[in-house]
Amino acid sequence: MRQTGGDVRLSGISKTYGSFTAVHPLDLTVPQGSFFALLGASGCGKTTTLRMIAGLEEPTTGTVALGDQDVTHLPPYKRPVNTVFQSYALFPHLDIFENVAFGLRRRGIKGVKKQVEEMLDLVQLGEQARKKPHQLSGGQQQRVAVARALINHPRVLLLDEPLGALDLKLRRQMQLELKRIQTEVGITFVHVTHDQEEAMTMADTVAVMNGGRVEQLGAPADLYENPRTTFVANFLGTSNFIEAEVGSHSGDDIVLDACGDRLVLPRARCGAPTAVGGKVLAGVRPEKISLTHADDAGAVPGGRNRLTGKIAEASFTGVSTQYVVDSPACPRFSVYVQNVDRDARLVPGAEVVAHWSPAHTFGLDAAQD
Ligand code: ATP
Repeated sequence: MRQTGGDVRLSGISKTYGSFTAVHPLDLTVPQGSFFALLGASGCGKTTTLRMIAGLEEPTTGTVALGDQDVTHLPPYKRPVNTVFQSYALFPHLDIFENVAFGLRRRGIKGVKKQVEEMLDLVQLGEQARKKPHQLSGGQQQRVAVARALINHPRVLLLDEPLGALDLKLRRQMQLELKRIQTEVGITFVHVTHDQEEAMTMADTVAVMNGGRVEQLGAPADLYENPRTTFVANFLGTSNFIEAEVGSHSGDDIVLDACGDRLVLPRARCGAPTAVGGKVLAGVRPEKISLTHADDAGAVPGGRNRLTGKIAEASFTGVSTQYVVDSPACPRFSVYVQNVDRDARLVPGAEVVAHWSPAHTFGLDAAQD
């Protein structure tokens, strides 16, 4: 049942409401068959973007194309696109089978029974076919909504915060379930969410939106490892930022002066101008940093970035111990260390060397935000 149909291409689309611009002119390509997430805080324009793909909102400028077909001026029902909303909008008086069959019956399509059974198997609800929506859990109802949208064989499935009404445990299950379904059917999924973990878990490509613009686009691991703005760095997890100055260049690396120390930053991971004397915000994720007691500083391998400091706080969270380190010359920073033996845990007041690989350092433009 693998579908074909081309990429979704948004070219210069924007949306203004009166004098307010909800989406600034945007170019975006969603590759065919991919799981694509529009991620951002409330009000950043992600739903408006999705609705322009669906045809529920007319763009102020620009075009929407599906493969070779310009669909900008097609009404929603003429687009090979279906939308699943957070409110499942199931018909309460129809059973699950009839809810899924509805679109096929309305179009007078033959072979309804086989198609609906296949679809219910795909979403693992074959056993529930004769139940009414209110007899199913929230996650099961959401799967019915997905089955009902997929049975019309859209080229693109749009999902607008579809898991927003579910509790955390169910949401996590459904994330994996939706990913499995997407892989199985091979249809392009465009998923809107404000939940970074959800986007990272499911999507091949994530577009991080902020203030009506795409701030960064990439594979989840790339965005996490190599954010280009402090907004993206902070939206996708926790980061430490160290104000630094470009000191010199060495091969493919930039040597930064920071907090009285030298930090090495691969040039490829620097999103800031790299002229000597320029300001750079050096970033590193807390879990990329190791801590060594100052008495054992000689054991720290060479070639690592390092800062000295003193443990200010230590909290055990189960899977990790989270430390806050006070450093004489720079702001406090966080370090997450996994699976520490109780005896090896560092206590507040301990003098430490914090060290990490230059490859885990990223550089941001200190002037951009
Ligand atoms: P949420 O997660 O809260 O739905 P979002 O990122 O999806 O947020 P949009 O729904 O796309 O955001 O809205 C973007 C901005 O456009 C918001 O500030 C919103 O108030 C505004 N907006 C959306 N629809 C309209 C409308 N019909 N008229 C005026 N302003 C609107």
